[in-house]
Amino acid sequence: MKNIEEYLKENGVKPSYQRIKIFEYLIKNKNHPKVETIFQELVQEIPTLSKTTVYNTLKLFLEKGIVQPILIEENEVRYDADITTHAHFKCEKCGEVYDFRVNLSQLKIEGLEEFQVKESHIYFKGICKKCL
Ligand SMILES: [Zn+2]
Ligand SMILES: [Zn+2]
Repeated sequence: MKNIEEYLKENGVKPSYQRIKIFEYLIKNKNHPKVETIFQELVQEIPTLSKTTVYNTLKLFLEKGIVQPILIEENEVRYDADITTHAHFKCEKCGEVYDFRVNLSQLKIEGLEEFQVKESHIYFKGICKKCL
């Protein structure tokens, strides 16, 4: 808890109780949750929490670069507190989003030499090994 507080401060986020709990949820669960999921889980513990607070907090985390958005589906945004370079796989059957490592320096990319890349997202969709 102490560390999360420090981490938020270092990144310019005033560490309120609710913000700490939301960030803690992201770190502990690593399930790439949607706003709805975070809200449903945390409201049991924090009855005063509103969905708007969760939404605004995630927006702030995004601005500060301490979470990354996962936009595999156009109608759902998921959030990830792991901001290291990695790729995602979404299972069509169970809806689970998996992390996997990718070495961007070994990826052969052509045609972007004179562009400035600010973000990159690598997504795969299919059926996971549990569902196969
Ligand atoms: Zn699956
Ligand atoms: Zn991830």
